[in-house]
Amino acid sequence: MSIQRADQNTVEKAGELLRAGKLVAFPTETVYGLGANALLDEAVQEIYRVKERPNNNPLIVHVPSVNEISQVADLSVLNKTQENWLTALSPLWPGPLTVVLPKNKNISEEVTAGKSTVGVRIPRHKIAQRILRAAGVPVAAPSANRSNYVSPTRAQHVYDCMGEEIELIVDGGLCIVGIESTIISLANDTPTLLRRGAYSREEIEKQLGTEVQDNIQRSSGSKALLSPGQMITHYSPRTPLRLKDSIELHKLPSRYGAVLLSAREQPSELLHGATHVSYLSNAGDLTVASQNLYEALRELDKEELDMIVIDSCDDSPLGRALMDRISRATSN
Ligand code: AMP
Ligand code: MG
Repeated sequence: MSIQRADQNTVEKAGELLRAGKLVAFPTETVYGLGANALLDEAVQEIYRVKERPNNNPLIVHVPSVNEISQVADLSVLNKTQENWLTALSPLWPGPLTVVLPKNKNISEEVTAGKSTVGVRIPRHKIAQRILRAAGVPVAAPSANRSNYVSPTRAQHVYDCMGEEIELIVDGGLCIVGIESTIISLANDTPTLLRRGAYSREEIEKQLGTEVQDNIQRSSGSKALLSPGQMITHYSPRTPLRLKDSIELHKLPSRYGAVLLSAREQPSELLHGATHVSYLSNAGDLTVASQNLYEALRELDKEELDMIVIDSCDDSPLGRALMDRISRATSN
């Protein structure tokens, strides 16, 4: 019901509310999460209701450190190789990484959408860390937006779309990464990349010392997905979004917004006719651009434009993660 600054009182209150089965939105370094006690089915059901999330889309469970992973995952069924992979990835935690592992029996199928695996995340954000420790229970937390809409990177974004339905929104300012975590599954014979994020496939392969299978598929949602975050319309604004390279300038509608990676962009015809222009970074820095992407899309989405036109990114590791989000958002 209210946005509160993340002081000690708020952190303790967030912990109490979570333990008691209430919903609390909180900042992480990726995006804001909509948290609920992962051990209480009714609390978890509330996440699905408030997000209007399809019940085949599993939730990621957050714990404060590697010491608590076994509260969520069943590490006893991992073979030696899988154990070694998990150890090899541990230095990336806390951080924007979700690892899919066999689930522990404490975690119900309400959380995992019927799967025998669970996505585990250890966020680096200081406020998220403090809230998880205050809660003392594993916290299921998807992004705090309605399903199919853009993820929130500020407390106000959460308030705008679901403020009436959440007991507490903890304000931690703008999320520093700005796009969702990298998801990697260690539950099979080969480590598998299920979602791109700030940790690139290359970094993960280096850490593991083995090849990672790229299993990022595109689906309109009908077939069984390894990871439902792969659904094509997962991240769209309401206004049609188009890649700059895919449109002909003379066919632009009268009211359009332009989202450009760099403020150093040469003035072009695109800028000249735009009703609104949003720069994701001053100098085309992709780390800054990823922080600002979702906020820029949300802001332009309020302007009743006929179209939003967006730059494409280069083929660098973070560029690929950003292009993944942008191309999903352009499929509306
Ligand atoms: P979000 O709504 O951004 O928190 O994303 C949660 C995403 O994590 C889901 O959409 C899935 O893609 C992924 N995920 C969570 N748990 C699992 C799991 N057990 N197996 C595969 N993917 C998972
Ligand atoms: Mg989400």
